[in-house]
Amino acid sequence: MPRFEPHPDRRPALIAGASSGIGAATAEALAELGFPVALGARRIEQCEALAAKIASNGGEAFAHYLDVGDTASVDAFVTAAEAALGPAEIVVSGAGDLSFSLVHEMSPEHFLQQINVHLIGVQRLANRVIPGMIARQRGDFVIISSDTANNPRPRMGAYPAAKTAVEVMARQIWMELEGTGVRASLVRPGPTLTGMGMDTTAEIIGPVLEDWSKWGFARHPEMLRAAHLATSIVAVVSAPRGAHIQLTEVQPEARVLSGDAGSRS
Ligand code: NDP
Repeated sequence: MPRFEPHPDRRPALIAGASSGIGAATAEALAELGFPVALGARRIEQCEALAAKIASNGGEAFAHYLDVGDTASVDAFVTAAEAALGPAEIVVSGAGDLSFSLVHEMSPEHFLQQINVHLIGVQRLANRVIPGMIARQRGDFVIISSDTANNPRPRMGAYPAAKTAVEVMARQIWMELEGTGVRASLVRPGPTLTGMGMDTTAEIIGPVLEDWSKWGFARHPEMLRAAHLATSIVAVVSAPRGAHIQLTEVQPEARVLSGDAGSRS
């Protein structure tokens, strides 16, 4: 008898936050490898366009509206996705947005909205999908965190607090799921060029970057691409049974220095 049942051949993957950025790149990467993918986000037309592109490339994809801030919406998304593709083998929790603000200047209502998406949104997904995974004795629940977890940067509103909380929750989930066959994993990106923060203005981002530099952040200007994170998420969920990649931090590689500037001597 093997110590672990291997992964089944068909592993439907549900992706929250699949209309752009890391979620969209992950959906494409998984679909290319033969995983059926369910794409969820509020911009359903973007999810549908990506699902059509995946299908035209020979993949299997399903799109459905999803607002992780709303329990009924999470339930509707998971129910529809599982009806279309089969029980969730993989769930990637990547939904999120960012509002730059000093903590004391952010309205409590806006602060709560951010916590609602980044922390409780993840718990909503966990509440909806993990019991089924436990019953099947397998499944990957992947949470996209941030390198601001336990490492806050100024002027990021509720974001670092929410990401720190989600990492604490993930570590608790690891303990609670030990021995069930279900793997919960954290993928912690550094700065990544996506839709996140792109709706900001020069007046807002100027002081943000000044404060970051004052506190020692942004050591170099390179940024990750969404596809880099997709590669990491694929690696996490592709780990064979018996291995559990609990935490992956991905940072942008610094540009190779050339000439005299590159000399370390
Ligand atoms: P994008 O803005 O490109 O993607 C965010 C996705 O989340 C979109 O598909 C968006 O879709 C979705 N989303 C936002 N709010 C909700 C909601 N309430 N319900 C459902 N979906 C929602 O940014 P990224 O790809 O960068 O972000 C993905 C994850 O990566 C986030 O958790 C983010 O915190 C994290 N991250 C990003 C970093 C970066 O530098 N970009 C660094 C560290 C972590 P829609 O608006 O259509 O609902």
